[in-house]
Amino acid sequence: MSKVRVRFAPSPTGPLHIGGVRTALFNYLFAKKNDGDFVLRIEDTDQTRYVEGAEDYIIETLNWCNIPFDEGPEKEGNVGPYRQSERKDLYTAYADNLLASGNAYYAFDTPDELTAHRKDHEAKGKTFIYNWHNRLKLSNSLALSEEEVQKKLANNEPYVIRFKSPQDEALKMQDEIRGEIDIDTNILDDKVLFKSDGMPTYHLANIVDDHLMKITHVIRGEEWLPSMPLHVLLYKAFGWETPKFAHLPLILKPTGKGKLSKRDGDKMGFPVFPLEWKDPKTSDIASGYREEGYVPEAVMNMLAFLGWNEGEGSEKEIYSLDELIKAFSLEHVSKGGAKFDPEKTKWFQHHYLQEEENLDLAKRYLQILAEKNIEASLPYVEEVVKTIKERATFVNDFWELSSFYFVAPESFEKKAAKKAWKEQTPEIMENIKILLQGTEDFSQETLQENVKKWITDQEIGFGKVMQPLRLAMVGEMKGPDLFHIISSIGKENAIQRIDFAIAELR
Ligand code: GLU
Repeated sequence: MSKVRVRFAPSPTGPLHIGGVRTALFNYLFAKKNDGDFVLRIEDTDQTRYVEGAEDYIIETLNWCNIPFDEGPEKEGNVGPYRQSERKDLYTAYADNLLASGNAYYAFDTPDELTAHRKDHEAKGKTFIYNWHNRLKLSNSLALSEEEVQKKLANNEPYVIRFKSPQDEALKMQDEIRGEIDIDTNILDDKVLFKSDGMPTYHLANIVDDHLMKITHVIRGEEWLPSMPLHVLLYKAFGWETPKFAHLPLILKPTGKGKLSKRDGDKMGFPVFPLEWKDPKTSDIASGYREEGYVPEAVMNMLAFLGWNEGEGSEKEIYSLDELIKAFSLEHVSKGGAKFDPEKTKWFQHHYLQEEENLDLAKRYLQILAEKNIEASLPYVEEVVKTIKERATFVNDFWELSSFYFVAPESFEKKAAKKAWKEQTPEIMENIKILLQGTEDFSQETLQENVKKWITDQEIGFGKVMQPLRLAMVGEMKGPDLFHIISSIGKENAIQRIDFAIAELR
């Protein structure tokens, strides 16, 4: 069998949607599982939709995701170039080939004429389809005489080249995920293969390139399923071997209603792009997983489950990329749409954050602290990280979870204060101050022992001491073990915080 070769073939028309990243990931996993090649091809034949920066964005995304391509722009293999705009000269010969074999024809219908046909049909409640049933009544090389055609060509009249889809043929196709798909070719329209601007359309360029690039498996989103008949017919028309096709299930909105779109992202409160994207025209910014603080491992793990699982009985959810490569197969990709679940993505992110080294996290937290003009030693921050990490999903959560390790509260949460700070509290707090003052070994354990012993000796409820003490240290009723906090900030700070609370909460 020939070497497995797959390609990811995005069009640089804007930022890559997270669904596109899933397509790239599944291609990557399939290639690596089968010791194959993962090719990146930039499909930029439609100049009108070209967006500045989109190609860089795609490449940066694949790099960030750790799913590098083996061949692609600036990583030339034997079948480049890998940007279709750099290959444009080669497509003409293939269009000519189809013209010569009678599988394609010139069509001279002007855009205005076509619009008129469409409107005319609409008025009658019909849809205009350019194909076998009307092609002989339209302005093309099948309907016109050879002489007329030559004249139009000689006069440089604009034309397109259309595929002549076969009539009355039952087309049997095979999809690796969906099984056999049968269609009646009479429903197909004669798609444009070559445009009047001298550029091939997606369909022609895509087939020619997949062939020339020796692609063995075409793995792409379900939205391309309607193009499959044309693509299969094109392979036949050229007399080429058809690659295997696999159409990945749609990614649905979290509600399950409809396809997750580019516009859903910030509207629904979660990113739909891997990286932040600034629209070059409007300067609008769309959020990205990277900038929101997700690690690529979490995003890859989440995406892998959008339409795939290892199979019945498998409850494993956490997969490294290497594990995904080992476990992946197209047989276990589902046909049905996969619901996007932002909460699950956070769950993965929470998991992967816990896996990170405390020291690395501490270094990142130090930067955040530095931005707030807070100085702290790396071991101190590392200890804080160790204590609060479990409650965090992102490094950016650290401050909210641990600011009191670095700065004293400036105010007290009202509700908590009302509940915790009673008439006798200042007196109790004065006693705690004395106790702290006299505690030589300011470790978490000793502090806990001393305070608890004092409470027991005084025969007062724990809450009466612990709650106001937490309020004094933190400003509200949150945070990890109180004695860890007191021990960490040290005697002087702890006493100052009690004094401040007594003064403020009168
Ligand atoms: N250029 C197409 C896209 O933007 C490629 C579709 C395919 O993989 O055939 O997704």
